[in-house]
Amino acid sequence: MLLTIGLEIHIKLKSINKMFCQCKNQQNFDALLPNTNICPVCTAQPGALPTLSEEVLEKALLLGKALNCKINEISTFDRKSYFYPDLPMGYQITQLYHPTNTQGQVSFFLDNYTNEKIVHIQDAHMECDTAKMIHDGGQALLDFNRAGTPLVEIVTKPDFSTTEEVVEFLKELQRIVRFNDIADADMEKGQMRVDVNISVRKSEKDQLWTRVEVKNINSFGMIKRAIEHEQTRQEKLYEEWKAFTQETRGRDDAKGESYQMRSKEEALDYRYFPEPDLPPLKIDKRTMERLNDQKIVIPHNIIKQFKDYGFNKEYINALISDKEVLDYFFTILSHCEKWNDEAILCKLIVKRIAWPIAARMKENFKTINQLPFDQTKLTEFLTRAQAGNLMENQLKIVMDEMLRTGKNPDEIIKGKWFDAPAMDSKEIELMAKKVLEENPTIVEQYKGGKTTTMGFFIGQLMKKTWGKTNPKIAQEIFEKLLR
Ligand SMILES: [Zn+2]
Repeated sequence: MLLTIGLEIHIKLKSINKMFCQCKNQQNFDALLPNTNICPVCTAQPGALPTLSEEVLEKALLLGKALNCKINEISTFDRKSYFYPDLPMGYQITQLYHPTNTQGQVSFFLDNYTNEKIVHIQDAHMECDTAKMIHDGGQALLDFNRAGTPLVEIVTKPDFSTTEEVVEFLKELQRIVRFNDIADADMEKGQMRVDVNISVRKSEKDQLWTRVEVKNINSFGMIKRAIEHEQTRQEKLYEEWKAFTQETRGRDDAKGESYQMRSKEEALDYRYFPEPDLPPLKIDKRTMERLNDQKIVIPHNIIKQFKDYGFNKEYINALISDKEVLDYFFTILSHCEKWNDEAILCKLIVKRIAWPIAARMKENFKTINQLPFDQTKLTEFLTRAQAGNLMENQLKIVMDEMLRTGKNPDEIIKGKWFDAPAMDSKEIELMAKKVLEENPTIVEQYKGGKTTTMGFFIGQLMKKTWGKTNPKIAQEIFEKLLR
């Protein structure tokens, strides 16, 4: 059976202040004592009025542009009323009738950057978050620090037909907001929350059946499990000829199941109406011009560029997974402008720098800006690598040492005699003979059948020749001498 999926994604904007007041917009609530970051506006004291933060608007517009949305010159805010303790005002300020960003689309890659897909965005509207309810020993406690923090809710068209598409789209979305400094979108911290609408049908020609919304999803793994579980559940109901209704279900990941939160009949009547305390939002010419001048990073286009350079998926992953690594890469690229073949240069940079650094970063450094050397030293290293006088294993040794000590590549190369003149094969053979003379017992062992000692001989020869011998040639020489 065919699967049809649509998404509603809440993204917490990374602005300095909350949406309608001067309180700080804390990104990590665990770092804050409950109810210490509040004011009359975000706790809805009588007479307090909202004022839209300019920065929140700017981030929301930037996101609209990054999602290829139509930015509407006039948009409005609406009240979504419901009664729940985490909602101090008794309503949420959102955009239902005339959202600011509408009709967008996002392109992204599938199957390790081989295929592409486009998903359409219905709208990306602003709304403010609720307070947090904490259940503790039979008590319900309220923390208003989160109340009034800014969100953008992105509503997609039901364009997805597999879980892989959903996950890859969400990864692209994470890159979009992170690379443009719009949000951190860490799912585990609740900075990106996903609701999934799922329905199944027999063939493309059939009408879409009743859709079911699954809420409470907070990791990529959980999204996969929730979709698979809901698909099986709906297919089973279909095969048993059981009707099912439009409903909202919650995901209990620990039990591997979902439960009904509310049916369509119980769907809340939100009594939407235009927010009387906020005038219609008019995006003036100056704001629009400023937005158009702003450089927006579209990760999908960068990946395309990398594909044109012929990068494999490991290289692309190493670069695209972290904005700082990516920036670093482009800075180095700009340092090496004099090299005329960009594609070759890029390959060189990734092979020599980005990849080893990304790998090393995972072990030792938090961010690429903590590396123990500056970009000039890296450019020097690249120039040495490009000159072709050093062997592969020597380059690796130099890079490792740079990462460890922060030393200048030239200094390391001199210290290890890597720039000593090349040896001819006669010289190497002499050295090899010396190695054998110095280690008679091991030679005996080798001749007695313990061929694993070959590695030892090669290692000794490497030391004697400052790593300037090709291990394969070294082995051939030893095999000849030991015959
Ligand atoms: Zn406040």
